[in-house]
Amino acid sequence: MRFWIGIDDTDSRKGMCTTYLSRILIEKLEKAGNRILGLPRLIRLNPNIPFKTRGNGAVSFLVETEDISEVIDLSNETVLELAELNEEDTDPGLVFIDAENDDIMNVLYTFSQRAIKDVISLDEALFIIGKYFIPHLKYKRGRGLIGALASVGAECEDTTIELLAYRKRERFGKRREYDPDSFFLADLLTYPKTFDTVDWGNEEVVCVPGSPDPVLFGIRGDDINAVLRAFETVKTEKIDRYQIFVTNQGTDMHLTHEDDIMSLLESRSYILSGVVVEEPFEIEGGHVFFMMETKFGEVKCAAFEPTKQFRNIIRKLRKGDRVIVYGAYKDGTINLEKIRIESLAKIYREMNPLCPECGKRMESEGKNKGFRCRKCRTKAEEKVLVEVERGLEPGIYEVPPSARRHLSKPLIRMDAEDRHIFR
Ligand SMILES: [Zn+2]
Repeated sequence: MRFWIGIDDTDSRKGMCTTYLSRILIEKLEKAGNRILGLPRLIRLNPNIPFKTRGNGAVSFLVETEDISEVIDLSNETVLELAELNEEDTDPGLVFIDAENDDIMNVLYTFSQRAIKDVISLDEALFIIGKYFIPHLKYKRGRGLIGALASVGAECEDTTIELLAYRKRERFGKRREYDPDSFFLADLLTYPKTFDTVDWGNEEVVCVPGSPDPVLFGIRGDDINAVLRAFETVKTEKIDRYQIFVTNQGTDMHLTHEDDIMSLLESRSYILSGVVVEEPFEIEGGHVFFMMETKFGEVKCAAFEPTKQFRNIIRKLRKGDRVIVYGAYKDGTINLEKIRIESLAKIYREMNPLCPECGKRMESEGKNKGFRCRKCRTKAEEKVLVEVERGLEPGIYEVPPSARRHLSKPLIRMDAEDRHIFR
């Protein structure tokens, strides 16, 4: 029989990673004679859920087995051994779903779409589990059951892949040793088939985390051969094991279009159009904001300090510019991930007129006395309006790789002629 296994919430900010635990479980299941079909999937859910670890990623994979109870026993053993069960906010959940059962798979599809864009309660997950008698493992509050179900139900039109390399167990929590240059080289050799390995503009390796979990680095891309080539190029401390996942990272699957909603809700992510109604302003710490008029009223938009050179684009916006923004809605503010500048307002400045003879600016003769050119003795009555050079081009802009959220689609993956890529 074929079962989908879904797993979530085995990690904490202090350690572990659900992808690593899944890799270990896959090894155990294969050793026991079960077959894993295809690649495991790493599904990123709504990134704005407050109590989740930063990535909010759940894992699922398809297993062919003669004995599901043995599979469940091995899963339980792996969670008890590896999950961060002593941490307050770690509440693992696993589900085992008959892959042939279309009724359940349909329910989980809808559930999953909502878990990626919306906010779902644990009660809803428990209701589905109860209604369909879904075999599951629940630890403590079992909040991971939400992601476990959602990961199994996810159907992604667009996918990318990520190769995650893991550390030797004795190295967990220690400083990661790696040669930064080798990551820049890997990017040179394989970009754009791989992406977000490094951030050239900010001179940063972005695919090596700083957290105490087992991940050494992750190579993202659209092409498995390119990802493997990058993997072979980078130089690091000894790798313990690795796993390639199919993911919904870099697909914008978390965004809801303004046409599909009646109002803006906190902790969701949107695509929203409007007109700039106030000049951008900056607060201490380098965070830049502007106000835009939308179909839902005035909305504040933010480019926070970590978005680096992206803020230079936002600073140049002026009243009357038409824009489309992409990002999470939090505390009444859109946290910008991308912006499309559709049209720029024409801005004029009053200046002294030009001399029709020599082309130089005329001088004022004094208040209300008109203007004249001293050399040519030409005269003019009034100031003229001159269009101001905006120093900004219409088109779509994104935050640099170092500030990218897992689900955000990099422009390099987008089919847009007027894209401005920060690499
Ligand atoms: Zn002149």
